[in-house]
Amino acid sequence: MTASAEWTARDASAVWHPFTQHATWTGDRPVVVDRAEGPWLIDVDGRRYLDGVSSLWTTTLGHGHPDINAAITAQLAKLDHSTFLGTTHTPGIELSEALVALAPKGNGPELTKVFYAGDGSSAVEAALKIAYQYSTQTGHPRPKFVRLDQAYHGDTLGAVAVGGHDLFHDAYKPLLLDTIGVASPGDRALGPDRNGQAIAELRAVMRESGDQVCAIIVEPMIQGAAGMLDYDAEFLRAARELADTHGALLIFDEVATGFGRTGRMWAAEHAGVVPDLLTCGKGITGGYLPLSAVLAAEHVYEAFLTRPGDTRPRTFFHGHTYTANPLCCAAALANLRVMGEQDVIGQAARLGERLAKLLEPVGAKDSVVEIRQLGTMIGVEVPPVGARTGFAVCQAARERGVWLRPLGDTVVLMPPLTLGDDETDLLVNALAEALDEVI
Ligand code: PLP
Repeated sequence: MTASAEWTARDASAVWHPFTQHATWTGDRPVVVDRAEGPWLIDVDGRRYLDGVSSLWTTTLGHGHPDINAAITAQLAKLDHSTFLGTTHTPGIELSEALVALAPKGNGPELTKVFYAGDGSSAVEAALKIAYQYSTQTGHPRPKFVRLDQAYHGDTLGAVAVGGHDLFHDAYKPLLLDTIGVASPGDRALGPDRNGQAIAELRAVMRESGDQVCAIIVEPMIQGAAGMLDYDAEFLRAARELADTHGALLIFDEVATGFGRTGRMWAAEHAGVVPDLLTCGKGITGGYLPLSAVLAAEHVYEAFLTRPGDTRPRTFFHGHTYTANPLCCAAALANLRVMGEQDVIGQAARLGERLAKLLEPVGAKDSVVEIRQLGTMIGVEVPPVGARTGFAVCQAARERGVWLRPLGDTVVLMPPLTLGDDETDLLVNALAEALDEVI
């Protein structure tokens, strides 16, 4: 019995994995990861896989970066954990300053305050609560959120409520917040003027219900989990204008797109639009430790400050045991330092261009419906020729030493931003061969 087989059997007896159908999963022979180096995952039998999706879109610098490891170790020797409730700490302060300095600039307010959470979903959850409470403290309660069809913002109840993917949304419908779905500007089924249609729909919804809407929430420029549905910056400009006109907040969920993933620090920069609240996570620590944040505009923060004559507290009663854990903050600071020193955003932009070029012949194959890309977020849509075609392509790539994960019939490529040329070639060649084998 191989070590993998043995661990897989033990896994099956004790573990319940996320988003996983356990009746079939062990039949897919899961990879039992033992260690990792740079962009490589190594399983318990010593097999190596190029990690083509950065774990879960998060290990932006690859694994084992000495600077991040050293920063975590140094922080561990100094302060492992201390609550952010009633006390503060230097890595948390420094990281907040760094994030405020890096926040997107342009059409919209300045983002001046940072509220921490533990993962993308809980950052979204915090942003939704902030938005609703903001409405109650600046005018009147606005209980509705506007969301895009096919959106994904995480799995906690608030985040599921503003999601637009039936598979995740429908089962919990009776429990969810009041939301209004708007056509996605990335939805190819809408035809060539999908952007215009989505803007028109958003405009109509806001005209009809705007004074009940506390926030419009979108994944800026590209809907990741929907299958990498990229869309035009014009939609974000319209969303900014409509939010302002109707007194709603604009929330950009940059959990997937932030920290260089799209070739810019933030996807918002492609549009020159700044939201009132920006959620981020994933790449914030380079994937080393769990951390996320909500960047908030000053006017939002100010609405939470006590004023003379208040009859109710304005405090944001929200936070977690591990809010702003110092180890996580130290990892994030080291990640941001490396990003600056090694021009990781420039590297990401160049990697995106190189991938686009290498993928041109792949996109021309009959086995590919469409390739969608923004920087290093790439979706290769395949036709559903059998059950789970996208999954079969990923399995075939795995036989070639490349680890990929599909979103339905879209094969995702989301490698570390610092991927070298040889590994980039391997990634694309393995995908091309896998497509030829399966379709
Ligand atoms: N928001 C977006 C845009 C995401 O892509 C994701 C995860 O993929 C989330 C939120 C949820 O993040 P997490 O899985 O860290 O809770």
